[in-house]
Amino acid sequence: MNFSELELHPTLLANLRAQGYVTPTPIQTEAIPAALAGRNLVGLAQTGTGKTAAFVLPILQHLLDGRRGPIRALIVTPTRELADQVNAAVQVLGQGTGLRSAAIYGGVGMEPQERALRAGLDIVVACPGRLLDHLNRGSLRLDRVETLVLDEADRMLDMGFLPDIRRVIAALPVKRHTMLFSATLSPELQGLVATTAPNAVTVQIGQSRPAHTIQHALYPVPQHHKTSLLLELLHRADTGSVLIFTRTKHRANRLLQQIARAGHSAAALHSNRSQNQRQVAMDGFRAGRFRILVATDIAARGLDVDRVSHVINYDVPDTPDAYIHRIGRTGRAERTGEAFTLVTPEDNDQVRAIEKAFGRPLERRTVAEFDYNAPPPPHAQEMAHHDERLGQRQGPPRRDGRPAAQRQGPPRRDERPRELQHEANRTSRHDGPTRRLA
Ligand code: AMP
Repeated sequence: MNFSELELHPTLLANLRAQGYVTPTPIQTEAIPAALAGRNLVGLAQTGTGKTAAFVLPILQHLLDGRRGPIRALIVTPTRELADQVNAAVQVLGQGTGLRSAAIYGGVGMEPQERALRAGLDIVVACPGRLLDHLNRGSLRLDRVETLVLDEADRMLDMGFLPDIRRVIAALPVKRHTMLFSATLSPELQGLVATTAPNAVTVQIGQSRPAHTIQHALYPVPQHHKTSLLLELLHRADTGSVLIFTRTKHRANRLLQQIARAGHSAAALHSNRSQNQRQVAMDGFRAGRFRILVATDIAARGLDVDRVSHVINYDVPDTPDAYIHRIGRTGRAERTGEAFTLVTPEDNDQVRAIEKAFGRPLERRTVAEFDYNAPPPPHAQEMAHHDERLGQRQGPPRRDGRPAAQRQGPPRRDERPRELQHEANRTSRHDGPTRRLA
């Protein structure tokens, strides 16, 4: 099949051609006709499958007809980076349509967003917290929305956004077209589907499995030699862009310093950084100014960066799902990639769970000539203790909506999704890109 069989508008077909998209991916082949027919839809697809275009194209096609000005399509995403990314796809695929879109999220001033909203938007890509702020202030109305997309819905639930999502949905017309995309479908999510997208067709592309273009390897190593082994891997592997995951923000910061000291160009991405810092890190990584990005799970969720050759789990992810999401940042769109995971004896349970999800053991590798028996570097024990006290296992949030480190009490304000925090942290950076499509 090719895109011309999908009965898309010639402008959209031209934009697809300009992007070099020739054949629809499986999720696009399945989802686009159903969405064009106005069917509610649940798309179960891992990231990197082309799911963004699977919902963006039907939205654009639908909005080509009808009035311009009121918000007619709303796409909700868990993170700011994903909102920017989806908005970029809307703008690229919507070139020449005259449709206007913007990304709306917290951590940046309200005023520029309010101006963009006053000027008129057809499509809004938003994180839930800031969207509600605008709704409460009356700077945004959702009563003309015809299409709702909940992207990375499982992650939004994991991040504790369900009450916010319900509030957003309450502000939408009951009669609307709803599409929900998720890598997994928990019972909680099934409940949300039943109430928000009745009679939805489910489109499932494969199991929640990583792309076949990725090679996986585990690197057993004592805790105190993790950093030296990582530096050795960075040095030896024929690496392009490398995304490194740590368990906590603190560990990300510390590792960034160590990597930078070793002479690598690197940046960090996590939720304690200002929106401006996050943007500089992402833009620099995308453009290749930073070869290495050190990130925590929440910040890097759903990121689409071309040519990530390696994902390295400096810390083992807490769940198989988190592993799949992390390594989904490489091997995208049929490119090849490698996923390395440093494992210590304490990680046995998580490794077993990951291997069980894969249905096979993962290859263990050792690095020739690396001295695994060298004495611990100075301060290693002290740092390990410090990490335990400071960061603990932030890990991916659990099903109860809180990061693991917080399960004993209410979420600490600074650890909650930024979009849930108030405006205390405003930076001067402009809001998500807003422009009329050429
Ligand atoms: P997504 O799963 O939406 O994050 O998309 C993953 C990557 O696949 C993105 O970089 C898209 O630009 C790319 N992509 C999406 N659809 C196609 C297609 N039909 N052909 C080739 N690449 C595509």
